[in-house]
Amino acid sequence: MEPVRVLVIGSGGREHALCRSLKLDPQVTELHCAPGNAGIEQVATVHAVDPLDPAQVAGLATRLRADLVVVGPEAPLVAGVSDAVREAGIACFGPSRDAAMIEGSKAFAKEIMNAADVPTARARTCSTEQEAAAALDEFGAPYVVKDDGLAAGKGVVVTDDRERALAHARACERVVIEEYLDGPEVSLFALCDGSTAVPLQLAQDFKRAYDGDQGPNTGGMGAYTPLPWAPEGLTDQVMREIVHPTMAELSRRGLPYQGVLYVGLALTAKGPKVVEFNARFGDPETEVLLDRLETPLGGLLMAAATGELGLDPVFRPGAAVTVVIAAEGYPEAPVKGDPITGLADSEHAYVLHAGTTRDGERVLSAGGRVLAVVGNGPDQESARANAYGLVSRIGLRGSHHRTDIAL
Ligand code: AMP
Repeated sequence: MEPVRVLVIGSGGREHALCRSLKLDPQVTELHCAPGNAGIEQVATVHAVDPLDPAQVAGLATRLRADLVVVGPEAPLVAGVSDAVREAGIACFGPSRDAAMIEGSKAFAKEIMNAADVPTARARTCSTEQEAAAALDEFGAPYVVKDDGLAAGKGVVVTDDRERALAHARACERVVIEEYLDGPEVSLFALCDGSTAVPLQLAQDFKRAYDGDQGPNTGGMGAYTPLPWAPEGLTDQVMREIVHPTMAELSRRGLPYQGVLYVGLALTAKGPKVVEFNARFGDPETEVLLDRLETPLGGLLMAAATGELGLDPVFRPGAAVTVVIAAEGYPEAPVKGDPITGLADSEHAYVLHAGTTRDGERVLSAGGRVLAVVGNGPDQESARANAYGLVSRIGLRGSHHRTDIAL
């Protein structure tokens, strides 16, 4: 086992979860994060570097003599951070800028899926209002209209109102309009090393802001794993029908895929179909998946970054649930700067920081999603009770969270 120095890029709950697990891996001898947050700085050395600047990130990784850089969010990937790190001769967990277009452009993702014969919604890419109107009528209601570019989860409109669908298309330069997929949604993340891929466990997240899946879409308000109700063999089927063909098609185009391929699926009457691809770990699914991961994370990510993935990762039995505490006004107009109290972990629950800063002894909200509270236990019910038990002890004026995660 070679000792490894790791630099994680990002500042959210996902990156805190990554850092927490990396810290527990005895092979990881040094852990750094840029820019980090008030929770991450308790487990890693943080550095004030612009995560969207490839030269700054590669420069920091070189100065730290990092063996591995792990890129958390999508924006640095699309900005070319992985390419710059690899050019500096350092292993990077995260796809190249061109391969990350699988998330950065919905039209590109559709093109890859169609070429690889991957099951997904039928779709049309439209650049004019006439094309959009024709596509809406071709597929009918409910209408699904997606901004082609990165929109931080806010680029998709699903509506029965044709006028609203058309207005969204008009507001975007280019849209993908597609058939509505009916069925429960699940996420499967595959770790990819350019030629091989291994799956993590299935998870489910909750995108709407309020209980009962009401309110606006958010980055995600909670998640749980595993999914006891998922059809048997689903993971193998998704690897066979979706992940491997997608990787092969990207390789064929000279874009070997290294990093996480996040497959968002709808379990339709005609089988699992891809709703979306992302080029990074999902947040907050990562918080629950890493809670259950038994295989040491540093070795796993290093193997993916160097083309040496082997056996499938192993997960502990039991369940994990995470509940996101969001700032007042999130997602429309989040309030920043309020102090947070009650951050002490309990026996089967702990706090991951998603948007916090430090002011002396005090931890302040940085707005948006502020904390992800993770509970675990032998089953989903106990994991859920443990997560909510800790949530009830946390104080943040005006904050809100869902009460029906994993119910
Ligand atoms: P996306 O950014 O592509 O994941 O879309 C955001 C959310 O919109 C998804 O999580 C789904 O809930 C919904 N959505 C996207 N595409 C479809 C579709 N074809 N049919 C039904 N719902 C969809």
